[in-house]
Amino acid sequence: MSSEDVRRVCYIVSNELVKASSLLPSNKNRSLLVHALVKASGLLNPANCRDNTHLQVLRPVLADDKELGAYHTQDYLQFVLNPAHASAADDTNCAEFGLEEDCPTFVGLSDYVRLVAGGTLTAATALREDRADVAICWDGGRHHARKSEASGFCYVADCILALLTLKRMHRCPDSSVRRPRVMYLDLDLHFSDAVSEAFLDSSATALGPQILTLSIHHSTPGFFPHSYLATLRDPSADRFDPFTLSMPLDRGATDATFARIWPSVERVKEAFRPEVLIVQCGVDGLAGDSHAIWNWSLNDGEGSLGWCVDRICNQWGCKVLMLGGGGYNHPNAARAWTYLTSIALRRPLARDADIPDHAAFPLYAPSFTLDVPAGNAPDQNGDAYLDEITTYFHEVARMIEERMSTCT
Ligand SMILES: [Zn+2]
Repeated sequence: MSSEDVRRVCYIVSNELVKASSLLPSNKNRSLLVHALVKASGLLNPANCRDNTHLQVLRPVLADDKELGAYHTQDYLQFVLNPAHASAADDTNCAEFGLEEDCPTFVGLSDYVRLVAGGTLTAATALREDRADVAICWDGGRHHARKSEASGFCYVADCILALLTLKRMHRCPDSSVRRPRVMYLDLDLHFSDAVSEAFLDSSATALGPQILTLSIHHSTPGFFPHSYLATLRDPSADRFDPFTLSMPLDRGATDATFARIWPSVERVKEAFRPEVLIVQCGVDGLAGDSHAIWNWSLNDGEGSLGWCVDRICNQWGCKVLMLGGGGYNHPNAARAWTYLTSIALRRPLARDADIPDHAAFPLYAPSFTLDVPAGNAPDQNGDAYLDEITTYFHEVARMIEERMSTCT
């Protein structure tokens, strides 16, 4: 997609989705705040689009049992989709399905699961059927949910369902024969354990690799989630899968650290050459989040989250599905996803644009602006470690190229 081409963007929202998503116990009313700010910023009005951008606002189609069953087990779906279980906090089956502690059942859970999966699948299907070039579903991005278990505030595996849908994409610009390649890039503070594990070793088929996952995340002993995949695994090990990748970063990661590691991300992308990219834009690594682990800015410049997503949308040349994820400072999540929406629409809002007057305006005190600047926490990602990442991913990209050359 060159800059002269018309870009078709679809944005997923409906009153039902916002209502259901706003019930998520870990992020009450976040969805309401996000879509309200995107709308108040004028981004959902097709009349405001530039000549080279078309916007379609799509209502999510509810995911049906068959669509959810493409990954989840029938036992899990029967339990989680039964409204009678919504208030059964003492039901012994809750524990079996992970529906306890950070994933309690709640009234509206059934609608939530169908609408969030439906939102992400509506977006993925628009890309798959070539009705869109960029699709946005900020209520999706639930990267910890497993086949038959809720985990880490995630009840439905919409990222995995989207990957399974996009694998079947009809359009392959490079070749009428080649199967489409889908890259999953996860920018959330937490490792994308469920997604990475779901596709581990999936490249080992006669038809060659189709999915690559790369999670950039924080990882220290004891930090959620626990997964042996969350480290820089030894590429020379027998079972090493160069299509299931992890890039752990230490505390305090700033724009400067992301600017250093980004060429490695692009090196992997260039080796794999995906037709479509899913980017999980969890914003719990931004400064000001309650986790207070990374110190990433939204829009301060090179290496910021906005800079990374701008590169993806405007330079990578593949279709993009943008999903949400974590983010516990709700006004900052709304700032971030509004700004990223404006990048997708090729009319980026100013870094310090005023928050427009709308019902949630007082929540944006004291700055009442769009920027999420970095704080003062020290960046513990030293030069030696960042050099190690560069060398590591250079080697991994070489392995990917070698594998790709044998199957195109
Ligand atoms: Zn997270």
